[in-house]
Amino acid sequence: TRDSAVAAVTGPGATADGHPVALLANIGGPRDIETALEHGAEGVGLYRTEFLFLDRDTAPSEEEQEAAYREVISAFPGKPVVVRVLDAGADKPLGFLPPTEKEPNPALGARGIRIMRIFPDILAGQLRALARAAEGESAHVQVMAPMVATPEEAAWFVAACRAAGLRSSGVMVEVPAAALRAADLAPGVDFFSIGTNDLAQYAFGADREVSALAGFQDPWQPVLLDLVAMTASAGVPCGVCGEAGADPALACVLVGLGVGSLSMAAPALPWVRAALSRHTFDQCRAAAVAARAETTPDAARAAARAHLPALP
Ligand code: PEP
Ligand code: MG
Repeated sequence: TRDSAVAAVTGPGATADGHPVALLANIGGPRDIETALEHGAEGVGLYRTEFLFLDRDTAPSEEEQEAAYREVISAFPGKPVVVRVLDAGADKPLGFLPPTEKEPNPALGARGIRIMRIFPDILAGQLRALARAAEGESAHVQVMAPMVATPEEAAWFVAACRAAGLRSSGVMVEVPAAALRAADLAPGVDFFSIGTNDLAQYAFGADREVSALAGFQDPWQPVLLDLVAMTASAGVPCGVCGEAGADPALACVLVGLGVGSLSMAAPALPWVRAALSRHTFDQCRAAAVAARAETTPDAARAAARAHLPALP
């Protein structure tokens, strides 16, 4: 059957001609480890740490954080674990922070790295806990910051990581300013991870939570593919951790645009692994070129599929 053919493809992600693509899991905490391993995740591409911080009146202690981080890190020996520092603020307010000004447009407010710059102790504590959790473990811990828009923000974050003894640090590319100027950000970071959910939100100025505007969240939008292409060609390793990577056809297109790792909700991993294994890197590139030549998401999807005859 279709499902058993998909499940039969195992091992590290790669195209039919052997171009490697790391297939990683998006997780929210230790409770998601088992599902990630069951689906053959080659590591964690997005550990959303905010769940430790939300819905409480006091900040989690560094000890509490360290325990959660170590549980995740120790589950992936020798593998990459990309930890995203707290992505809060705006519509995800933190109960333990003093009130800031009222924000009429929360998605455009002090969120992600922006709130860390207002309250730098949160980041410092998180990085200390993470550095301790990584001690003696063999996983490759990489730290990344959400909502980075400028090289100056990236430099501030990378310096904080270095000060905490964390050697691999990068930024999420989820604001068009960062994608359009990826070449300016690249020299200061070790990697990029594209957050396609927010990148679509900010490219179209369309709130991702408003269902009437859901069409703008379609990751086949050609403009989103353009922004991915710009980011992936800036000269540092580039992954995708938004929902886009979970669509097997789009995963092939992203690889064709130069993306080297894909992180997604774990149940999608076998489907993406199978799709990549059945197409060559050239086919992925041709699909990407064809999709970008179109002007609507539906046309882009159809054009790409014409180059990807063996999708699961
Ligand atoms: C994204 O924005 O695409 C992303 C991966 O982060 P989140 O969905 O947590 O904002
Ligand atoms: Mg995001």
